[in-house]
Amino acid sequence: MPMENDPLPTSEQMTVLVAAFRQNPLPLLVVADGGTIAAVSDGACELLAMPREKVMGLNVADRFLPPLPIDRCLNQKECRDERCRREILPAEGQPVPVEVLCRPFSVSGESAEGGRLNDHCLLYISDTRKRDYEDELRAARLAKLSLLNQVSEALYGANLTLDQVLEAVLICITAGQGLRFNRAFLLLVDDEKNVLRGEIAIGPSNQDEAGRIWNDLAHQPDDLFSMMTSYDQSIKQTDAAVNAIVKNMTVPLDDHDHVLVRSMEQGQAIRVTPDMDLPGVAAIRQWLGCDTFAVAPLMTRSGMLGAIIADNAISGQEITDLDLEFLQLFANQSASAIENSRLYTELERRLIALRKAHEKQKEHQETLLRMERLSVMGETSAIVAHELRNPLVAIGGFARALVRNLDPDDPNHKYATIITEEVTRMETIIHDLLDFIRPQKQQRKEVRIDELVTGTVDRYQGEMQAQRIDLQLDLQSEDSVVACNPIEIQQVLQNFLVNALQVLPEGGRIEVRTRLMQGGVQVEVCDNGPGIAQEVEDKLFAPFFTTKPTGSGLGLTICQQIIKSHGGVIGARNRKGQGACFSFILPLPRNS
Ligand code: ADP
Repeated sequence: MPMENDPLPTSEQMTVLVAAFRQNPLPLLVVADGGTIAAVSDGACELLAMPREKVMGLNVADRFLPPLPIDRCLNQKECRDERCRREILPAEGQPVPVEVLCRPFSVSGESAEGGRLNDHCLLYISDTRKRDYEDELRAARLAKLSLLNQVSEALYGANLTLDQVLEAVLICITAGQGLRFNRAFLLLVDDEKNVLRGEIAIGPSNQDEAGRIWNDLAHQPDDLFSMMTSYDQSIKQTDAAVNAIVKNMTVPLDDHDHVLVRSMEQGQAIRVTPDMDLPGVAAIRQWLGCDTFAVAPLMTRSGMLGAIIADNAISGQEITDLDLEFLQLFANQSASAIENSRLYTELERRLIALRKAHEKQKEHQETLLRMERLSVMGETSAIVAHELRNPLVAIGGFARALVRNLDPDDPNHKYATIITEEVTRMETIIHDLLDFIRPQKQQRKEVRIDELVTGTVDRYQGEMQAQRIDLQLDLQSEDSVVACNPIEIQQVLQNFLVNALQVLPEGGRIEVRTRLMQGGVQVEVCDNGPGIAQEVEDKLFAPFFTTKPTGSGLGLTICQQIIKSHGGVIGARNRKGQGACFSFILPLPRNS
């Protein structure tokens, strides 16, 4: 446009300018007096869907809705650019939304009153359809990005369990405020079996459920936790169907052509449309019951975690490029969150194991200290017991001589007898104590257990006959051989037999049994005596516990020690009818 002091263009320049205007692909119009179109560009012809000859001379008011305010610019001295939104009416088709910039100018020179009047307008028209679509797209992308950002932050920040993370991921894929898929299925890699396995799914099973849930959730706030809570309430009851589907989903990871494996290996989301026929697609269609779906890999830097399948089976809505782009984006974020949660769980597990190991070590240390103390005490007791034995022998000897020499009616006879009895008791204690403390030599031999039992029982034939004991032997260890120190095992058996003889009245019964068990052989001595009193049950094997006036209370303690050192177990129980049973089990050699 020439300015007031600009020289006018030459005719050659004008020819060039007019040609440039006409051939311009931008929609441009020049409007003259009364709104008549005086010049039109190629772009404007295209937008109006008319040839140039038809556009020329038309009144611009007929082609815009609502009409353009051209009068505000024409025949005015001062007029600024006007920008407005209109619809342009092409010869064919629908009205097109446009934005019009109207710039007035003058070609006629000065008016009678002096000063220039604007007698023409240049209209620059821009088609806003494309721009509106792009704006919408940008807005949608922005909204989703902001949600994804929020969700990712929440997934990382919150102390969620793996199950909660998986659920949150699926909620975001299906939520109205999220990716808006109808249903989502999550599969995880099972490294042990080398397969991809369906884990969890979310989504309604039919249109009715969908309507109710989407209605319920339409106005939920956008933060993850409110979404999770409301989904928990609305969807929990309804996702049984999709979870039944997901449990069927298993894909071998070495099936590299399978659409899921391929998506994971390429790190790329894939949209499957009804016309596509990739390996694995038929099976997924059967699982889902619909033709169109999207798959996205769950990948982290350390490898493949799994995959997500999402569909719009209920609404039938198209899966757009934007949907796919966001599914991929979100899958990437989720994969890191899933891995984080797994690592966290693993860390917690190891921490607990470490704590337990630490506690055990502390216990071991304490046991070691106690054992050290006990061992010192044991050595001291051995010395003391040894030192006491000789004077006791002398005291016992003199007391017995006194009993022999004194008249039974002499009151001192009674005192001397008490001394001999107490000395005998002390000698028993010292004998058993030394037995208990003496270091055990592990001289093990292979012994037929039934022979060892018979040999030991034989030694007590005299006592048994004197007490008229009914002895019953039931040896059924089937010639089993155990590796043991036979002297020690005999000692245990003797202790059982002596205890039984001590509790039995004349004419009592003793049953000695052996039998083969899983991995071991059991030896049991039962009597029909008074049985084990309830209050002594827990103390039977405790050192120095005795209910007998001359007992040392070390017999069963020594037995327990011997059986333990053989890797066996010892026990006692009351019989159903009457009496007690004491038994031990010795392990059989592994190859037997
Ligand atoms: P002691 O024979 O010196 O008492 P033990 O350790 O052999 O020491 O036995 C401990 C206690 O176990 C006995 O004092 C007794 O109370 C109980 N006991 C052992 N054998 C039997 C049995 N056959 N029937 C009932 N009680 C028994």
